[in-house]
Amino acid sequence: MTLCESAGCRRDREDKSRTDPRPAADGLRVCWVCRDRLGEYLASLPGLAADCEQAMIRATGLHDKVSGTSEPGLPLNLAAGDARAQLLAVLAEWAGMVADERGIRPPGAWGLCEMPHGFIGPANRVYRYRSDAVATAGYLRRHLDWLCAHPAAGDLCAEVGDLVHIADKAAYPDPPRRRLLGPCVVVGCGGLITANVYLDRPERSAVVCDVEPEAHRWGRDRWHELKPARTAVAA
Ligand SMILES: [Zn+2]
Ligand SMILES: [Zn+2]
Repeated sequence: MTLCESAGCRRDREDKSRTDPRPAADGLRVCWVCRDRLGEYLASLPGLAADCEQAMIRATGLHDKVSGTSEPGLPLNLAAGDARAQLLAVLAEWAGMVADERGIRPPGAWGLCEMPHGFIGPANRVYRYRSDAVATAGYLRRHLDWLCAHPAAGDLCAEVGDLVHIADKAAYPDPPRRRLLGPCVVVGCGGLITANVYLDRPERSAVVCDVEPEAHRWGRDRWHELKPARTAVAA
């Protein structure tokens, strides 16, 4: 039995004591979980790159000090800028590999760079390949199964996973504000529920039970269901 080659596969989310990678999918070097996760990551990358760009700008205006991630005194979220640049570079590198090895066109298009001052010579010397995150990530997704069968599949999964986490942290450097609300509202649970509020990403905010974090979880649209618990705490 061939095992999944993605380094990330060794960390089982459901059972932390399990360290074995899952079996690789038929014809692939990685398992279905890692393959699907890679597809999801690639789908989220253009948005994440845009979020990093936003975070750089946000740092110049709304926050007088960028928390932790950039050098003191510089009103720019440099970590977000670096993460974005790294994202785009790595995407382009993998897309280049697909194009080379499959003998197909890379994503994007060739375009003429601005002529350097005083440049004399054939124009093709100043042609440069231009592509954006949307085109490149879409291209990689179209070749997802080919990539997952490639000897470098494990590296790709691990690299993209790491990049997503770094970029996510850089784009949203503020940790959530936590507040203990009281006993879980599910009858017979006995756990405690805590509100995790993300100021920079409200859609992620949730109230979570410490005993059943997956099942007893309320997104912002369901917080009205928790009123009894709040009253209980106040009383
Ligand atoms: Zn796997
Ligand atoms: Zn509970």
